[in-house]
Amino acid sequence: MDLHVLGWNAHWRDLFEPYVSLSLLPGRVVVEHRGAYRVETEHGERVAVLAGRLRHEAGRRSDLPAVGDFVAVRLNDSGPTVIETVLPRRTALTRRAAGERAEDQVIAANIDTIFVMAGLDHDFNIRRIERYLAAVWESGASPVVLLNKADLCKDVGKQIGDLRAVAIGVDVHVVSALTAAGVDALAGYWREGVTISFVGSSGVGKSTLLNCLLGRNAQTTAAVRAGDSRGRHTTTHRELFVLPGGGLVIDTPGMREFALSDADEGLDTVFADIDRLAAHCRFGDCAHRSEPGCAVRDAVERGEIGADRLASFEKLLNELRYEASRGDPAAAAERKRRGRIGAKAIRRMKRDA
Ligand code: GDP
Ligand code: ZN
Repeated sequence: MDLHVLGWNAHWRDLFEPYVSLSLLPGRVVVEHRGAYRVETEHGERVAVLAGRLRHEAGRRSDLPAVGDFVAVRLNDSGPTVIETVLPRRTALTRRAAGERAEDQVIAANIDTIFVMAGLDHDFNIRRIERYLAAVWESGASPVVLLNKADLCKDVGKQIGDLRAVAIGVDVHVVSALTAAGVDALAGYWREGVTISFVGSSGVGKSTLLNCLLGRNAQTTAAVRAGDSRGRHTTTHRELFVLPGGGLVIDTPGMREFALSDADEGLDTVFADIDRLAAHCRFGDCAHRSEPGCAVRDAVERGEIGADRLASFEKLLNELRYEASRGDPAAAAERKRRGRIGAKAIRRMKRDA
């Protein structure tokens, strides 16, 4: 297996450098299920387990490997392959894990572009799309909106108009996964080594589109090797697919169930008044500090909102952003670069939810 097909490049080679002398091999996690892994390596796909050190010393759940992670593994003649290290992620789609401790769980790592799918049928919900977009920006991946089921909708003008207001700077495509209309135009978003994925409510057409892109029934035929025209029939549930022209799709149960965390939703209710006002700030990414035309500061000056309330709102937002970025240094740096967008996205996410 040529790892370049799976996204291996100079960036990962540099990060892997320290492990070469330890006789470890690079690999990419292609399946994760309850702590059991499958890792694709240049010697083929292997069942893998976590090194004891990794399992015990992982301070946070997000330290553990997720589908899409590049890892350093030790191949054993007897016994399973062992995952020794997770290379720092470029992007990470996370959700708040259930339970007492506020922990983030990485749903999938190192996705370059995430398609936010919405149906043009009765399911069209602009707020939901907005929230998905915010989460994708936070992950470090680039979002693209796909309006699916175009065959069921005569006039998409209203939906496109609504989208323009929330999906600023985001490409929007109208497609029909069923008839393949508009699907060819998507091919420009991937090539060899580029990883994509889909989010959107159940029934929106994710499986149909994936099958359309793969030209076959993805979940019954698994050909993880590019150019392998024979395919490999197996009953294993695949979570990572190589597209015919190159490019990878991550399709895991976690991606499918992906929804924003409860904590994110709570903030909106607590600070609904500030969120409502923020919608009237002159700048969409207003930080409510010294920006002209800030509706929130105006309300503070009029005494409608206590300055301390604004302060605690800001504090919570900062905490949220900090939590989102503490996954690993590389992702944090990437999020910092995107900071303006991230803050804006978070604010949008809280607004009008
Ligand atoms: P998923 O839950 O997001 O994977 O959605 P599916 O791919 O399973 O699709 C749900 C239903 O919508 C299925 O009955 C599909 O045949 C149907 N569907 C998917 N895409 C389209 C489309 O473009 N047009 C129409 N009319 N139906 C579609
Ligand atoms: Zn403001």
